[in-house]
Amino acid sequence: MARYIFVTGGVVSSLGKGLSSASLAYLLKSQGYKVRVRKMDPYLNVDPGTMSPFQHGEVFVTDDGAETDLDLGHYERFTNISAKQSDNITTGKIYSEIIKKEREGGYLGKTVQVIPHVTDRIKKFIKTDIKNEDFVICEIGGTVGDIESLPFLEAIRQFSNEIGRNKTMFIHLTLVPFLKSSDEIKTKPTQHSVKELRSIGIQPDIVICRSQQSIPLDQRKKISLFCNVPIQNVIETVDVKTIYEAPISFYNEKLDKQVLRYFKLKSKKKVNLTNWRKITKTVLNTKRTVNIAIIGKYVNLKDAYKSLDEALIHGGIKNNVKVNLIRIESDKIKKNQISKIFKNVSGLLIPGGFGKRGTDGKIAAINYARKNKIPFLGICFGMQMAMVEFAKNVLKIKNAGSTELTKNVFPIIALINEWNKNGKLIKGTNKNLGGTMRLGSYEAKLRHNSLIQKIYKSKSVFERHRHRYEVNNRLKDKFEKKGLIFSGMSPDDQLPEIVELNNHPWFIGVQFHPEFKSRPLSPHPLFCSFIKAAKLN
Ligand code: GLN
Repeated sequence: MARYIFVTGGVVSSLGKGLSSASLAYLLKSQGYKVRVRKMDPYLNVDPGTMSPFQHGEVFVTDDGAETDLDLGHYERFTNISAKQSDNITTGKIYSEIIKKEREGGYLGKTVQVIPHVTDRIKKFIKTDIKNEDFVICEIGGTVGDIESLPFLEAIRQFSNEIGRNKTMFIHLTLVPFLKSSDEIKTKPTQHSVKELRSIGIQPDIVICRSQQSIPLDQRKKISLFCNVPIQNVIETVDVKTIYEAPISFYNEKLDKQVLRYFKLKSKKKVNLTNWRKITKTVLNTKRTVNIAIIGKYVNLKDAYKSLDEALIHGGIKNNVKVNLIRIESDKIKKNQISKIFKNVSGLLIPGGFGKRGTDGKIAAINYARKNKIPFLGICFGMQMAMVEFAKNVLKIKNAGSTELTKNVFPIIALINEWNKNGKLIKGTNKNLGGTMRLGSYEAKLRHNSLIQKIYKSKSVFERHRHRYEVNNRLKDKFEKKGLIFSGMSPDDQLPEIVELNNHPWFIGVQFHPEFKSRPLSPHPLFCSFIKAAKLN
């Protein structure tokens, strides 16, 4: 039977609960155990799909087509276990299901309440789709003390009571600040946060203390005493220089060992951290840099392109270069400044995006990269804009455009309402915006002898999608005659998935998001090849 580890956070948000959960999952997996990692988000959106990246950072897409919290990206990158729809739930989703059931008469006669109906649904989520996993690590979003997370905390308290304390563990991550003026490390916020947790019936088994510097024994003892946890279970996590150090640092602090000891389990395999050490060293010591310009709408928000930033770093590690991201806000680009922007840039990346704002700048930049033979990678919206640029300037279709942005255009990019998935017709809609795009993993057949086939070294690939609009396939011959090749197609030949430019060192557009499948220990071939081309430029 699975053991359940619940990870909560206290004092402040953004302490790295996701990274801690992902690192622990990696270490337990390396000890020979089967692990799943899931996330419960206390907000009222059904999923983060309709939220602006300014609000929530990136929306991470799973193979099975769920739009999820970006922490699931951390989990996947660290554990190499593909997350599923069943690994992320929100308050919004729970309530919408319960209210639907209530309207259908599913609770006839009863008053529908937070306890037991909401808490029961949360408990069901925790166990859903768990088969032979040894550990289920379940992160609870938000901070202890928030009104919103209360039903989740109550549910995990009940859950542990039901399945037994020996099958559940509570890990609480807090901040242990350092006060410069008094030159002291302060444990009080941690004490208060644990007190808050205990007041709702949850006694943490491990307290992870995020700190700027190592926590001396005296302070650890204090945390142990006031928080009622054994001293070995006060684990510090000192700020790391790169996130790839996190599994190493948690291993040194014996987090995994303490977890196994708690559950009275033995390690089945010796943990080997050589690869993490190797990439940490590369990230910290590589001198040579490659400048990549990213032109998008949300470039100023750190987490808006999380997987993309990561994938580019992975590509850099593979090529022994540091990738320096030059983030440019698309609506700030003036046409006459383009050459200035590209002065020190070795590659251009236009990421996924929605809506009209900033598209002129993107198109002007793609035009420059195409003409000046600068390596270019267009992802989803980035590919769509590359097609529009080419149609306007090479095919001379003056009013070429995307119907997402302007109604009266010659549709190079347009809405399609139906597509094929494994022989089944899927219907899309743009009336209801949540969860109705072409989402998740789809196959693309790669053209023989194309650049993309050389990169993937394969005849077909599966990549994750998240878009509503598609390239107009009827113009294929026209594009190809002028050198823009449709080198990846959906298996039924209806949907262009990848385009590449002949007579250009590296110009590729992909309708999917390859960044979701890149891992630090197995970087995505497309990003490796893109960075290699930029390095040569
Ligand atoms: N807005 C575009 C579409 O819906 C592209 C989406 C994206 O880049 N993810 O098709």
